[in-house]
Amino acid sequence: MSENLIPCEVVIERLFAYLDRELDESTRAEIDRHLHRCHDCFSRKEFETRLREKVMASSTEKAPDHLRRRVEALLAPR
Ligand SMILES: [Zn+2]
Repeated sequence: MSENLIPCEVVIERLFAYLDRELDESTRAEIDRHLHRCHDCFSRKEFETRLREKVMASSTEKAPDHLRRRVEALLAPR
């Protein structure tokens, strides 16, 4: 490979910031470039994207009552 790509570890490390769009434009472009060339990181990104969509979708649904009571009991001060 003649092009200088940033290493996979850097992409993985910044993946969440990338997905949250917290990166500056040049870092973002570097990661985009890497994702176009690296299948491993690309599928990781796809996986994270889908996972986030699922979490977002499920967090709009109400948690079951019995589960919520258990969580509240755990969090309640004694
Ligand atoms: Zn990679």
